[in-house]
Amino acid sequence: MNNFAYSRAHTVTDAIQQINSHGHSQFIAGGTNVVDLLKYFITSADALVDINPIEEHHSIEEMEDGGVRIGALVTNADTAYHPLIGQRYPLLAKAILAGASPQIRNMATNGGNLLQRTRCYYFYDANAPCNKREPGSGCSAIDGYNRIMAILGTSEQCIAVFPSDMCVALAALDAQINISGPYADHTIPLVDFHRLPGDTPHLDNNLQPGEIITSIDLPAQGFSRNYSYLKLRDRNSYAFALVSVATGLELEGDVIRDVRIALGGVAHKPWRVPEAEDFLRGKTASRENFGAAADIILRGATGFMHNNFKIELAKRAIIRNSMMALHPETQLPGAQPSL
Ligand SMILES: Cc1cc2nc3c(=O)[nH]c(=O)nc-3n(C[C@H](O)[C@H](O)[C@H](O)COP(=O)(O)OP(=O)(O)OC[C@H]3O[C@@H](n4cnc5c(N)ncnc54)[C@H](O)[C@@H]3O)c2cc1C
Ligand code: SF4
Repeated sequence: MNNFAYSRAHTVTDAIQQINSHGHSQFIAGGTNVVDLLKYFITSADALVDINPIEEHHSIEEMEDGGVRIGALVTNADTAYHPLIGQRYPLLAKAILAGASPQIRNMATNGGNLLQRTRCYYFYDANAPCNKREPGSGCSAIDGYNRIMAILGTSEQCIAVFPSDMCVALAALDAQINISGPYADHTIPLVDFHRLPGDTPHLDNNLQPGEIITSIDLPAQGFSRNYSYLKLRDRNSYAFALVSVATGLELEGDVIRDVRIALGGVAHKPWRVPEAEDFLRGKTASRENFGAAADIILRGATGFMHNNFKIELAKRAIIRNSMMALHPETQLPGAQPSL
């Protein structure tokens, strides 16, 4: 591992000053992703700026508009088990608890989860061509072993997926990401935060160099009565999603008044298709209607041989998860139904 300087920032201003004063520096929060990337020589840094001392980013608070603000430095575990999240946003708690392991969730922060890198095998193999790690070198996955790769929003340059569980629920909940930077503070909707690969696959998201994520805002509508998160994977724990689905429903009888469906494991960003949600509004919550919505969501999906199965799997997962959302009381917290 290369040598790097280490410093601690106690305020946002301090963090932004420090990150912009070193030639090539990175923030470190829980360290569960960035340290691995440094050890494998996938990324490099002359300096790491530890942002854990920034106290105001460690809280979860109700906002005046009825929503909830979650600090970027709150751990995934503390977020999932916080009473406000458990009661008002159980979809988020369930998605977080489907990820990683208890030990990792105890260290991993919400800001770091948003910025974790892809789990594409070739990205982590410093000897393999990879446009994300080394722009212009090629993509080893397109004609390689691509079982875990994307089926939606891909480009000729990259077919990687964004691996987060938490962010799939945040996409369904219409979360907003609050950011501070050297010039201004601003907010980006979660659905616009991560990028599609296009011809710039080295850019995962729209955070600009030198900026820091301060918090995540959840709107008042938490879909706490009818929700479900389904994660399908090769092992039932400690594995990333092949396909995951977050569903939130607002029902009047058996009629859908409002609905959100977001997919993980299928694209370079959490995948939402407003047209499918428009289709469902005002319709009966039935297997047939969820199936028709699934067809809209998967429109244009393309496999790359080893991951062709994901197209059908995603459709079935959408139907199953949406039906499960009708009876969330039958789901144990964090439990994953067997296939
Ligand atoms: C074995 C393993 C299994 C896992 N399984 C899953 C899984 O199933 N599902 C899932 O969703 N995740 C999974 N993860 C990923 C895990 O959730 C992330 O590694 C974690 O959320 C990253 O958070 P962190 O605080 O440790 O980030 P760090 O590693 O500290 O940082 C990650 C990146 O974010 C930047 N950063 C961190 N905080 C900020 C901030 N506030 N502002 C700006 N930049 C910042 C850092 O500079 C760095 O580039 C797994 C990880 C491991 C190691
Ligand atoms: S899919 Fe993306 S991350 Fe994977 S090898 Fe190709 S360019 Fe690299």
